[in-house]
Amino acid sequence: MISRQIDETAVSRAKALIERSERIVAVCHTSPDGDAIGSCLAATHVFSAIGKDIRTVIPDQCIANLRTLPGAKEIVDAARYPEFAAKLIAEADLLLCLDFNEPRRSGRLAEAITESKARKIVIDHHLNPAFEADVVISRPDMPATAYLLFRFFCRLELFNFIDRKASECLLAGMMTDTGNFSYNCADPELFIVTAELIRKGADKEKLYRQLFNTFSENCMRLNSYAILEKMEVFAEEKAALITLSRDELNRFHYTKGDTEGLVNRPLAIPGVVYTCFMRQESDCIRISMRSVGDFPVNAVCAEYFSGGGHLNAAGGEFHGTLDEAAAKFRAIISDNKKKYIDK
Ligand code: MN
Repeated sequence: MISRQIDETAVSRAKALIERSERIVAVCHTSPDGDAIGSCLAATHVFSAIGKDIRTVIPDQCIANLRTLPGAKEIVDAARYPEFAAKLIAEADLLLCLDFNEPRRSGRLAEAITESKARKIVIDHHLNPAFEADVVISRPDMPATAYLLFRFFCRLELFNFIDRKASECLLAGMMTDTGNFSYNCADPELFIVTAELIRKGADKEKLYRQLFNTFSENCMRLNSYAILEKMEVFAEEKAALITLSRDELNRFHYTKGDTEGLVNRPLAIPGVVYTCFMRQESDCIRISMRSVGDFPVNAVCAEYFSGGGHLNAAGGEFHGTLDEAAAKFRAIISDNKKKYIDK
């Protein structure tokens, strides 16, 4: 079996709250990813199995690849059905806040969550939780909320209520946040949990195809175009840049999620230490940066692009044209090299 990781007080308080609640709503962060959706849906499967009335409400649409997860059709998208979403949250007696560390990360649901009289249980793995809730189980050392949630179910003695559908959703969350077990995988128990989920019927190969290897033709062509025509590699400065304008995105009928992971691609080139991807949006240029090792893209985003984030994954924005944003990046790379690489 696996070790006990969640504090006993939190478990017993959560257990009492769940026992006396009748209408539960699971919520997550904006642009929900596989961990957010997988965790909410797994909670929905497990708690309905013990007779609870539970729904998942998300702040905005998730990418198409996630809409094939078991139970995804029952999700209420607050962007499309704001009144119904607000009603569900207002009438809930328990909110399960999964995979986000503060209410504002849930976008348009933030106010409803904060103002709700419902009891709140937070289960999350992001840094610096800032939540007023009855129970906060925050474990930034865990690779995925879904993994923490599996442990939570076990502590609630609900292991036997984790069916094939819940297993598939939990595994989807774990695979998403570890890049199909390619990073944040140092914990051997992650694989014990994976084995249990497969034993319960989760089809890992099917999930891999759905989550990591399903692209529309347009998406595939857009990414190939970006690499072939738009990637600049600055070998001397150990940096790479990809930019995509509104016109280019339109040419490939861009939809949300189509450039997911594109920013990481140049990091595969030996010698490239950090990368920047700029996408022109209606109101600004959206910047995302990734790095390997100790190059702090969060510091670079904070200094030049009004943003921030983690050491190896950060983002920001730029107000101006795409060409100006790209010029700004080209202008800072030799300084970045002096400051962070040659140091
Ligand atoms: Mn997560």
